[in-house]
Amino acid sequence: MTFINQWLRADIQDIKAYHVPKSEDMIKLDAMESPFLVSKDLVKPYLTFLSEVALNRYPNPSAENVQQTLRSLMDIPNELGVLLGNGSDELIQLLSLACETNDTVLSVEPSFVMYEMIAKFTRLNYQGVLLDDNYEINLGVTLEEIKRTQPKLIFIAYPNNPTGNAFDRESILAIIKESEALIVVDEAYYAYSEGSFLNEVGNYPNLVLLRTISKMGFAGLRLGLLIGSQDTIRELDKLRLPYNINTLTQASANFLLQEKEHIIANANIIIGERQRLFNELTAIPSLKVFPSQANFLLIKADDAKVLFEFLKNNGILVKSFAMNPQLSHCIRVTVGSPNENNEFLEQIKSYYG
Ligand SMILES: *Cc1c(COP(=O)(O)O)cnc(C)c1O
Repeated sequence: MTFINQWLRADIQDIKAYHVPKSEDMIKLDAMESPFLVSKDLVKPYLTFLSEVALNRYPNPSAENVQQTLRSLMDIPNELGVLLGNGSDELIQLLSLACETNDTVLSVEPSFVMYEMIAKFTRLNYQGVLLDDNYEINLGVTLEEIKRTQPKLIFIAYPNNPTGNAFDRESILAIIKESEALIVVDEAYYAYSEGSFLNEVGNYPNLVLLRTISKMGFAGLRLGLLIGSQDTIRELDKLRLPYNINTLTQASANFLLQEKEHIIANANIIIGERQRLFNELTAIPSLKVFPSQANFLLIKADDAKVLFEFLKNNGILVKSFAMNPQLSHCIRVTVGSPNENNEFLEQIKSYYG
């Protein structure tokens, strides 16, 4: 027995680490990243801006400038509060730390795996409620499970990852109204989605929104935000580590996120490519493609495992769900650049002959 084995919490030893596959030299369509780099004409002024940053000092502790930048990028009303995180993953952790030991976290399944993992790290119970066959919220069952398990926190990804659909709005509103939990609507994909709950946050004290810049071109910066009432944000802010948004991220966000028009134009390219991929893939009889409001598509294929390996051997990395019984015949493909999507389509067509 090693030192760490006898030292570490047994439940942590049992956890399977979050696996990030190797992707060097591959077309990377597995992690919902944007294919767009900082535009060429911005690189020089951006680097000049960074060169003036005081790296000898601690970062601005509350990063007010970044908050302002995000408010104007995302049209967040001034009466709402904003809490910044080192990615929205950190904010999921912060919300979980705000619960009491043995409280329950509830989410639907399949959904974002970090809700369950972080619940476990923070010694909370986790309750998953299965979505129906169309990956829609099963409202009756969900409300029953809420009543039975009295969750403290409920995570609803809107649109959902990995299924891509945005759940029925009325079902989410019913959950908000009928539960005493804090409801976290996770809008990681808001830039690609027709709907949002931003306008509802002021109407329900138990509703907060999670957003991130990761899925719209800035995954490398690690910056997410929680949007809620001023009261809620002020109290939760006590749990935030003082300098969680580093100086380079603050400076980069303040410089690069000013390009609102450009960011929206890039999102629109992805939305157009999503439609093109959807149409072309739907024309392949062996595939079922699920409608998506996000920058990825969930695709069902009887031979998903073989297809995944075929794509990988041909230099295209997608996400396989072989381990998940609800998704065992599915792959998830991020919408890439037009060229990347062409390559993906070419490979998948050659696979199906
Ligand atoms: C990608 C993703 C996140 C994590 O975002 P980061 O800000 O990069 O930590 C959160 N929620 C959902 C639903 C996601 O798909």
